[in-house]
Amino acid sequence: MGNIITCKSLHNANSDIVMSNRLTDAFLNVLIIAGSRLAKTKEQKRLIVWLAEKDQTAAGEGNVGFDIAEMPWNTDTFQKDKAFMLKTIRHALNKKHWDKLGYEPNEKNIFPRLEQFAELIEAFEADDIKQEKLIKWLEDSDKDDPINNGFPVCPRHDALLSCFGCQICRN
Ligand SMILES: [Zn+2]
Repeated sequence: MGNIITCKSLHNANSDIVMSNRLTDAFLNVLIIAGSRLAKTKEQKRLIVWLAEKDQTAAGEGNVGFDIAEMPWNTDTFQKDKAFMLKTIRHALNKKHWDKLGYEPNEKNIFPRLEQFAELIEAFEADDIKQEKLIKWLEDSDKDDPINNGFPVCPRHDALLSCFGCQICRN
């Protein structure tokens, strides 16, 4: 069991990021805790909330792998949002706000995956965006969902909430 993050538009199977379930939680935790503080626009906040929906307590263990093209990228703001994601990964690699996590992620396991994720995002281009993913995700959201209610954050982690709550509290 585990989760795989892919970037199929690269046509390079060696680029897949393979993680155990527990490592996936830590990987998402450090991105969410950094990205929640860096996100300025709704497009950027949506990317982090979408990652926070990769919640194994809700989706099931080993059910949160994804392809980078499935993320809710917006064509109009893509270059800024890509730079935002790369900065979020850099902050995670600098262990920003790890003191708030309540545990110490294993650097030896998590750093290579974060670096790999940065390489995939770096290689991902506007032509690879599937804008229908964003449209469908927004259409499927409930009017009570955080993305439609001013992007609330967890008081303990200052982490953007998904429809399931705080991904860090729950995982
Ligand atoms: Zn929390």
